[in-house]
Amino acid sequence: MALKQVGLKVALIDKAEFPRDKVCGDAIGSRAARVLKNIDPKLADELEAFPQKSKSSGWKLVAPNGKEVKLLFVNYGYVSAREHFDNFLLNLVRKHTSTTIMTGVKITSVNYSESGVDVNLENGSKLNCKMIVGCDGAHSIVRKLAGDFKVDPANYSGAVRAYFDNVIDIEEEIIEIHLGKNFLPGYFWIFPLPNNACNVGFGMLSSEISKRRIDIKKSFYDFIEQHPNLKARFANAKQVGELKGLVCHSVVRIICSPPKMFCFAATRHLLLTR
Ligand SMILES: Cc1cc2nc3c(=O)[nH]c(=O)nc-3n(C[C@H](O)[C@H](O)[C@H](O)COP(=O)(O)OP(=O)(O)OC[C@H]3O[C@@H](n4cnc5c(N)ncnc54)[C@H](O)[C@@H]3O)c2cc1C
Repeated sequence: MALKQVGLKVALIDKAEFPRDKVCGDAIGSRAARVLKNIDPKLADELEAFPQKSKSSGWKLVAPNGKEVKLLFVNYGYVSAREHFDNFLLNLVRKHTSTTIMTGVKITSVNYSESGVDVNLENGSKLNCKMIVGCDGAHSIVRKLAGDFKVDPANYSGAVRAYFDNVIDIEEEIIEIHLGKNFLPGYFWIFPLPNNACNVGFGMLSSEISKRRIDIKKSFYDFIEQHPNLKARFANAKQVGELKGLVCHSVVRIICSPPKMFCFAATRHLLLTR
């Protein structure tokens, strides 16, 4: 959407058909609304009006001894299942730009060429472009163009999540992080969604998971089982769908080799490499 201002001919390619599920905690920081507002205030209004989300105005951290600390956010955020939120964003692109959208199309490789970048697709066809912006996640194909692809367990975390209905004692607009003595440095989360649903997950650094040979799916259920308060809150809760896992790279990298390639691999700290 930001690119629409610069008059480029843009194609957006994604191997998934939308709406699609994406393993995530579904918490959206207040920055998302600010970014949309900076692009076009109308977009932030559409996010505000988007119904498939719940507001998050603060979070509480529950220590292994059960004591809790609660912090209210300066600017509220949201919790929205990625299936809905990513589809909402894609529909904004459809509605407000002339981007060529290709979903269900997998990129198998990219390489530099005289005239820019060649993008090879799974269906055997090839596209050529002047510039490629890779937002293709933790296992980015585009990042390989920079030859920068090494798994650093210290910067990877493994996590699992499932959706639950009817978890009790949910505090409205408050997302929860729980720590457990036997599960450190991992953490368990409960992020409330609309209609009495919750995104519930457990995550830990990959280096710890491999060092201690942790079965992260088992740890998820053990965490509930071993915490009397959580056990009571989940006693009549219903898990909706399977418990799914994913690794995520906990370093934001902007890898660029201008003018042909830019790659954004998301999540936390900012590290600029050239
Ligand atoms: C369990 C878990 C919980 C998390 N919880 C939160 C949270 O609550 N809040 C938060 O802000 N962040 C959270 N994160 C981090 C967040 O999910 C990621 O930072 C974010 O999804 C990264 O966005 P991205 O666009 O870089 O990649 P992705 O969201 O992974 O998107 C990449 C896209 O590229 C497409 N793609 C990949 N390869 C190809 C290919 N070869 N060809 C075509 N398309 C391709 C995929 O289909 C996908 O749509 C969590 C992560 C995990 C694993």
